[in-house]
Amino acid sequence: MEAAWNRAFALAAVCVLVSLVFGCAGTEKVTAPQATVVLPPPPPPRINRVVLPPPSILVSTPADPSFSSPPKPTDVVGRLDTPLGRRWKYIVLHHSASDAGNEAIFNREHKDRGWLGVGYDFVIDNGQGGPDGRVEVTFRWEQQIDGAHAGNEEYNKYGIGICLVGNFDNDLPTAKQMDALVGLVNYLQKRCQVPTANIVGHCHVRIGGTHCPGLRFPWYELFSRLEH
Ligand SMILES: [Zn+2]
Repeated sequence: MEAAWNRAFALAAVCVLVSLVFGCAGTEKVTAPQATVVLPPPPPPRINRVVLPPPSILVSTPADPSFSSPPKPTDVVGRLDTPLGRRWKYIVLHHSASDAGNEAIFNREHKDRGWLGVGYDFVIDNGQGGPDGRVEVTFRWEQQIDGAHAGNEEYNKYGIGICLVGNFDNDLPTAKQMDALVGLVNYLQKRCQVPTANIVGHCHVRIGGTHCPGLRFPWYELFSRLEH
């Protein structure tokens, strides 16, 4: 009788142990009561304020038609698109230091000095001697020969000379002259690969000193309007 009690007691103990370790099959899992969780409101939808163009627009390639055929200034007399005869490196700006003038007048004056003719590659008229804003192309550009304008051999040989009619120690170029200059410089920079750092005034390169292209010449306006 005592042995039977011991077996029953041992069996009961095993059952309790098994149920403690493995749980009881068929019983529902009891979960602790859930606390109420207050979630923050969802963030507002994000708005992309900066819309970037696709990468193909950001990168200029040699296939860009403007690279091989840059836009030209509108009022031009002479052969602006003459074939290039040398590696032009600079653009040198001048004023005529006179109220009036044009390519023909400067041509005569410079011949009188014993030169081949007008020393610049381009003259931009101001309405006093030629139509305001007209670009006159001289024989030096058309024949791609050395200039006679810089007072410096390097800049006469590799610099494109542009003269604006006027005296910019006292006055400013006309609005049409500036439009023409910006168009011409943009065209020449693209066509000849002249960097903006190489756009200089006569005063920056002449050995001996000069005010040219004038103390009031609007450099800031020019550089702010260039495409490069
Ligand atoms: Zn000059």
